[in-house]
Amino acid sequence: MPNFPKKPVIGIISLTCCEGCQFAILDLGERLLEILKHYDLGEFSLVEDLPARPHYDIGIVEGSPITADDVARLKEMRDKSGFLIALGNCAHIGCVQAIKNYVSKDEKLKYVYSQIDKIENPEIVPIAHYVKVDYIIPGCPINNEEFAQNLLDIKDGKLSLIPDQPVCYECPLVQAGCLLQRKIICLGPVTRAGCRAICTTHGQQCLGCRGPVNEPNLDSLQRQIESFASREEYKHALQVYGVQKMLIDQANQAKKFK
Ligand code: SF4
Ligand code: SF4
Ligand code: SF4
Repeated sequence: MPNFPKKPVIGIISLTCCEGCQFAILDLGERLLEILKHYDLGEFSLVEDLPARPHYDIGIVEGSPITADDVARLKEMRDKSGFLIALGNCAHIGCVQAIKNYVSKDEKLKYVYSQIDKIENPEIVPIAHYVKVDYIIPGCPINNEEFAQNLLDIKDGKLSLIPDQPVCYECPLVQAGCLLQRKIICLGPVTRAGCRAICTTHGQQCLGCRGPVNEPNLDSLQRQIESFASREEYKHALQVYGVQKMLIDQANQAKKFK
């Protein structure tokens, strides 16, 4: 963690995405204005068309590096940022656009575009595929309270702890009992908490938008899900937020050290 000046320069850019994480930041309202008093605000595309700065103490990147222009902007942001944050699932994992990594993406392209000659259609990757990432604020969209706390902490040279415990810890087992026990697919046991189990407490399954815990026990979850659902349904759940590859890699990594 670098030593920041009294008023760190901060910039937020968007690559290809819905910009929902920036909207979540704006939803902080007056609280955001209070937080930004501690910063010198550079780019923040959703607020104002502020000119890019040559240097950022903290660079924040939302979205997926899909086009060549995205990749160039991402690398430029890394070069001029002392500390780089991946904001939201698109930057962290790949999000819904990563579904195409698991299907025949060239085939799917034909459903969308009548002429596909000049369409860029790369594999969807986290921004960490191209640049070093110093910190991740996960979720789709992010939890804006978590963002606010992180920004207050980071300027003081601290990192807030993003909990390495599963969503099940924050889930009061929903009113009618645990979704998995009711034979509804839920990825809460392998997904990083911090969202206050917002989906499950409203009766919706957790589909893993905040990404995997450090040591996900995927084998156990798969066994449990496949006792009542097909493998196709299980895989579909892993793919909605693009977490399948990261989850499998992390689960394999965890097994190696056991
Ligand atoms: S993580 Fe979700 S809300 Fe944020 S930019 Fe990506 S798709 Fe939008
Ligand atoms: S509903 Fe999902 S998140 Fe909640 S306890 Fe059950 S498995 Fe865990
Ligand atoms: S419950 Fe799961 S899918 Fe819903 S916000 Fe939390 S991590 Fe994301």
